[in-house]
Amino acid sequence: MTLPSEFVIRGGRVVDGSGRAAFAADVIVTDGRIRLAEAGEASGFESVEVDGLVVSPGFIDTHAHADVEPYLEDEQVHAARIVQGVTTEIVGNCGFSPFPVPAGRDEVLGSFLSVVFGPQASTFEEFDGYREGVEAKGLASNVAPLVGHGTLRAGTLGYENRHATPAEIELMRERLERALTAGAFGMSTGLCYTPATYAPPAEVQALAEVVARVGGIYSTHIRNETDLTADSLEEAFQISRATGVPVHISHLKVAGGRHWGTSGEIIAQLEAARAEGVDVTADVYPYTAASTSLHSLLPPWTAQEGIDRLFENLGDEDWRQRVTHDLENGVPGWQNLGTAAGWHNVTIATSVRRPEWEGKAVADLMEPDERPIDAIARVLDTNRGKVVVVIEAMDADDVTAFLTWDHSVVGSDGIPLPGRPHPRLTGTFPRVLRRYRDALGSLEAAVNRMTGASAQRFQIPDRGFVADGLVADLVVLDPDAVSDRSTYAEPWLRPEGIHHVIVGGKPAVWDSELVDGRTGVVLRRGQA
Ligand SMILES: [Zn+2]
Repeated sequence: MTLPSEFVIRGGRVVDGSGRAAFAADVIVTDGRIRLAEAGEASGFESVEVDGLVVSPGFIDTHAHADVEPYLEDEQVHAARIVQGVTTEIVGNCGFSPFPVPAGRDEVLGSFLSVVFGPQASTFEEFDGYREGVEAKGLASNVAPLVGHGTLRAGTLGYENRHATPAEIELMRERLERALTAGAFGMSTGLCYTPATYAPPAEVQALAEVVARVGGIYSTHIRNETDLTADSLEEAFQISRATGVPVHISHLKVAGGRHWGTSGEIIAQLEAARAEGVDVTADVYPYTAASTSLHSLLPPWTAQEGIDRLFENLGDEDWRQRVTHDLENGVPGWQNLGTAAGWHNVTIATSVRRPEWEGKAVADLMEPDERPIDAIARVLDTNRGKVVVVIEAMDADDVTAFLTWDHSVVGSDGIPLPGRPHPRLTGTFPRVLRRYRDALGSLEAAVNRMTGASAQRFQIPDRGFVADGLVADLVVLDPDAVSDRSTYAEPWLRPEGIHHVIVGGKPAVWDSELVDGRTGVVLRRGQA
């Protein structure tokens, strides 16, 4: 598909990303930028007729893990987000970013990152090396990277279960500041994951101070999303109060059946924090199941001698007994998500070496006389530890309540790996437009939470709206037909109703087919 560098999208209704009512206008794309013309006014341009369709800003996924996805070289994975209309992804989430990784630390970081990024998990010393690397490989969507606290910590202390020394904190602060100055948008934490979970709040605060100073954002996958959700949110608020950093809660949820129905209390807590001046927002994905790595459901001490050591211990009966004790009885502060959800609700998503296990629950893989750890160990050992699971853990009404909170935006938390991934990777944005449009009030309101509001929150200039002079990241969609089709059983089914996707003025998806998988760039904070 080649279009000239100037063309007009004619006959559509513009949903401009601000939340205001749709209006008729022709959208001229010239030199990669937008110019609005009154309907029928623009002539002399090659035209794309879109009668009856909606022209919206490209969607911004505020919670993605596609940092090094181009290195995977998997066409299906590569197309999965752009065909939904996602033109920008905030990456580096949950503490996982492929930079800054000091020389000599790439092996430790490789095993830390490969769980989310896959075996192709490349690492980079600096932001610029990352940018050049992924751009050369070819990004479909733009990415706006955060610096992962897990990466900073593993790159400085490895997997040691202790507090960082003042000198180590200083080193992390320097590396963070360098990446932020080069263009990273902020910092993320994944405080339930090893080795980040060994960090006390003071360490995170010392880093958040640097983020606040440069004007970035702090995105946090909080320490505990089951029994201690309120305490964990308070930890995030406290870091914002102490440093002034804007705080963004990743994939806001309450997980585990005994907490269902508590979204009202959580939202009241968020509102109270806002009322006293904490600048807090959140992202939400429109599903009741979570997804993460299988080994992260084990007690935190299992990784304290490194992730490779964890996998060496899998066959040790004493180790299995200790794990079983902690899975059954808990460890103070630890969220114990697998037990909270129930092992019949934990389903294998990616098991490259035994694909027949994909779609099966841990409980289904247990022989009659086995404990959960016996099945878990078998799956981990067979796959050298690289196993992603889907965990049915949330209440549908809570999801709706969080998604419709005034200060929520949409984020998929998709993990771009082959196998049978959580369908949020391929369906999040059309699903919100289809199933949550009424709850959100209107199509315009739904689009706002995946475009304009997201661009403002993450300070992405020149994107997120259809307005004169902004970058032409655009989606042409059918408001009546738009829908997700991906399911847990068939996660690769593409959505319906997303006709064209344009990134930087270039067609990436045309007539619902990927036509150019290299239209994206790495965005830099403060730079258009
Ligand atoms: Zn997360």
